[in-house]
Amino acid sequence: MRPFELDNLFRPLLTLPGIGPRNGKLLERLVGGPKVLDMIWHKPVDFIDRRYAPKINEAQHGKIATMTLMVDKHIPAPRRHLPYRVECSDDTGSMTLIFFHARKDWLQKQLPVGKKVVVSGKVEFYQGRPQMAHPDSMVPEKDKDSITGFEPVYPLTQGISNNVLRKAMGHALKSVPQLGEWQDPTFMTQQKWPRWHDAVQRLHAPESEADLDAEHPARSRLAYDELLANQLTLAMVRNRQRHVQGRAFQGDQRLRNTLIDNLPFTLTGAQERALNEIYSDMESPLRMLRLLQGDVGSGKTVVAALAMLAAVETGVQAAIMAPTEILARQHAESLAPWLDAVGVDYVILTGRDKGKAREAITDKISDGSAQIVIGTHALFQESVGFHDLGFAVVDEQHRFGVHQRLQLSSKGKGVDVLVMTATPIPRTLTLTAYGDMDVSRLDEKPPGRKPIDTRLIPHEKIDDMIDGIKRQIDDGARIYWVCPLVEESEFMDVAAAQERYEILQARFGDRVGLVHGRQKPQEKDDIMSRFAQGDLDILVATTVIEVGVNVPEATIMVIEHAERFGLSQLHQLRGRVGRGADKSYCFLVYKGPLGETAKERLAVMRDTEDGFKIAEKDLELRGSGEILGTRQSGLPTFRLAQLPAHTTLLQAARDDARLIIEKDAQLTSERGKALRTLLYLFERDQAIQYLRSG
Ligand code: ADP
Ligand code: MG
Repeated sequence: MRPFELDNLFRPLLTLPGIGPRNGKLLERLVGGPKVLDMIWHKPVDFIDRRYAPKINEAQHGKIATMTLMVDKHIPAPRRHLPYRVECSDDTGSMTLIFFHARKDWLQKQLPVGKKVVVSGKVEFYQGRPQMAHPDSMVPEKDKDSITGFEPVYPLTQGISNNVLRKAMGHALKSVPQLGEWQDPTFMTQQKWPRWHDAVQRLHAPESEADLDAEHPARSRLAYDELLANQLTLAMVRNRQRHVQGRAFQGDQRLRNTLIDNLPFTLTGAQERALNEIYSDMESPLRMLRLLQGDVGSGKTVVAALAMLAAVETGVQAAIMAPTEILARQHAESLAPWLDAVGVDYVILTGRDKGKAREAITDKISDGSAQIVIGTHALFQESVGFHDLGFAVVDEQHRFGVHQRLQLSSKGKGVDVLVMTATPIPRTLTLTAYGDMDVSRLDEKPPGRKPIDTRLIPHEKIDDMIDGIKRQIDDGARIYWVCPLVEESEFMDVAAAQERYEILQARFGDRVGLVHGRQKPQEKDDIMSRFAQGDLDILVATTVIEVGVNVPEATIMVIEHAERFGLSQLHQLRGRVGRGADKSYCFLVYKGPLGETAKERLAVMRDTEDGFKIAEKDLELRGSGEILGTRQSGLPTFRLAQLPAHTTLLQAARDDARLIIEKDAQLTSERGKALRTLLYLFERDQAIQYLRSG
């Protein structure tokens, strides 16, 4: 149960003064969540210094000033496009406050004639006279103190002003509790970090450029808290997995050698290296939990096949699970000839198998006659009983997430696990997603692959490109056409794809197909297989094909509005072509004008096919929080930690988490209890649940 002391932070935003149903929705979107805590994580990006409080005759042009003035006279606008003016004075002179599109009643209430007011805003001289247009604040003299010396400036959205946000924040900050310290005291002293409560207050009270810096003690501390919660969760998962006794699998090489003899190629050095790492994990009695990271086309499937055979050689069953039905079927297709060649019995089980047929399959799984099971993640999570499962490959493609692994580990009975991912993520981010899980990387592509000719096409040239495509189709080319990603709206994605589909159909007739996320799986599969068989020349798609089919004959990838995609997504999409013998192209169609970063990103795509390089570049250009598509990818996103700036802290958090788990795996010590609060604070409830059941 969440500690009561956190309750204030988990209240809805609507409970804050000044936040109602309408701006509440806007605020929720802005801060990324419905809770007070979400708002507290909304960091100021700048500050305004309001300490300068000159008399009128000392006021300097262009400076933000807070001035105490007597209101002398209101002069309503004589004509519509002219300003409303309010004449004010002090004992040194007079000045004018200027308002365009002013509401007279409101101004008369805010600035009553004959009363002293305090206004704050930028002073400007016009025809030798000081004036202030639309002051940021105007209060009666008695409320002078509400205009603070320094004012935080927040990222805003239409409908939420800095004043509204600032006021709501002020209330929220008052309810921030003092919490038991979860940091190691020595480390804290060494880092000169404030306590959590004070760090939060400091975060929202910047008074200098240094206060906005990622390295500032308050910001570092909060970032570290977040990273520690992340690393601790991963360490707990790992510890649990380690905790369960593993088994030592030492096969006789027979099946593996037969497969290798039957392969039409020799393994790359990277594949050999990865396999040796996997085999030695399997041979050890500790439970294996290894990540196999390899770009699309780097040859992960054969590595998975050999690893599964190593397990089968010892008499246990092996399974490979994919995130989607399509992918599971595709694995089955690639594995079938290999497994047939070595004479291993396997079954394929997906959600589509029903009734008697399904029963026949599950029977083979439970009596052990199926030595290898190929299926979807969901099936493994359901109550499919294995005779003796010893080894599982989890193909996460780019939909990995710690949640799945949590579930998996609670299922496992000493099962060795190999997680495969095609997402080339920078090493730093690997740590945030996988903690210190063992990693094997396939960083070398199988030989003989032709480079993909990637070209940047301005949207105005799209018709010329279509003419070119027409010629390629006449020569037998097959084309993927991916339509723009419309932010947060699958519905809009579909509409855009539908429109492009109709345009292309008008030109190319019924040899154009359309797939999108709203179709039934059966319908989607049908269209994809018509494309695979060559009954369609062009496959128009939303990003569903990302995790889709393998069609070696497809040689052209068109991506519309490429500037809207994340680099890693573009990379994944491009990886769909260049798989066959013919030369392949990728056309990145963009709509200008592009900013500098956008230009650089597209240029990276044009200049390299190395997924790791692309990922590193994306991180460098945009920072981890910004990498478009990370949300879809399941990579954790951070509110406080900024990567790569906080990479050193991330490494420290990893070591810290490891030590904590070694000494106090159940988090029962004094610090352990505080750490539980930390996990709740960052909503790692799942990890805590897990702790209880452990
Ligand atoms: P991934 O799953 O990593 O995207 P695959 O396992 O599907 O990649 O491999 C892509 C293609 O490369 C497949 O056709 C596979 O048979 C082939 N392949 C794998 N390893 C090698 C190798 N060492 N030499 C040549 N071709 C290979
Ligand atoms: Mg594959």
